[in-house]
Amino acid sequence: MFELTGKTAIITGASRGIGKAIAMKFAQQGANIAFMHIGDGENAARTEKELTALGIKAKGYECDVSDFDAAKALVDEIIAEFGEVHILVNNAGIIRDGLMLSMKESDFDKVISVNLKGTFNMTKSVYQHFMKKRRGRIINISSIVGLNGNAGQANYASAKAGIIGMTKSVAKELASRNVTANAIAPGFIATDMTASMPEKAREAAIATIPMKHAGQVEDIANTALFLASDEAGYITGEVIRVDGGMAM
Ligand code: NAP
Repeated sequence: MFELTGKTAIITGASRGIGKAIAMKFAQQGANIAFMHIGDGENAARTEKELTALGIKAKGYECDVSDFDAAKALVDEIIAEFGEVHILVNNAGIIRDGLMLSMKESDFDKVISVNLKGTFNMTKSVYQHFMKKRRGRIINISSIVGLNGNAGQANYASAKAGIIGMTKSVAKELASRNVTANAIAPGFIATDMTASMPEKAREAAIATIPMKHAGQVEDIANTALFLASDEAGYITGEVIRVDGGMAM
């Protein structure tokens, strides 16, 4: 079940956190992995080594997903190098939190450009390849904040809600080509992103989770694996919350 042998996945932002967990999970199921990161070459090199040790082909690429031309050129390079791409996971994301009153225009633009436009850039770059092959899986990492909003995250919530709209639109466009597009909406997951929150805000967030603890990166990776698998072939345009009941 959930076998990915012989498949290649592109995963954005997989040098650490949720993206890395997805890469490791896919690789354990036999997939080859091409992943993207932005800055930290050390993390990326470690991830590449851990992936390769699983006996699959893996390569990390430094590429800013918000740069359309760079994203397109890299996807073409990956297709040439790996032969075919079967799965795209749009995971790269950033936060620049602040109440709307004090949020800088540049913080709004930056979050939209990495989280939302990055998802557009990558999806557009694999679109024709998936259409021609008449198969493909697009998995977009949204957030429960995109469903419910969150004070201090107007930029991030807008991007994550936009990702849900994009997912459903692409799902409708590509359904007849046997390409599925789905989104995962994580709740509060223990990663560098949530570790960067003030202690009080972190405790307050965890208190609102019916399960009373943060999620683990593997919780998201397991859901991504299911959506990437043949077993999920009839699911498209769906948003799956993985949040311990937080946005219920
Ligand atoms: P993280 O630990 O901060 O990791 C972010 C990853 O994205 C890193 O690999 C980073 O690369 C990469 N990245 C950032 N900007 C990029 C860019 N412009 N181009 C390419 N790669 C870029 O984040 P995370 O917590 O794992 O979150 C992963 C995804 O889940 C994000 O979309 C986030 O919004 C979403 N999410 C997270 C939570 C949570 O509770 N953690 C909840 C809901 C949704 P470098 O290592 O090179 O910096």
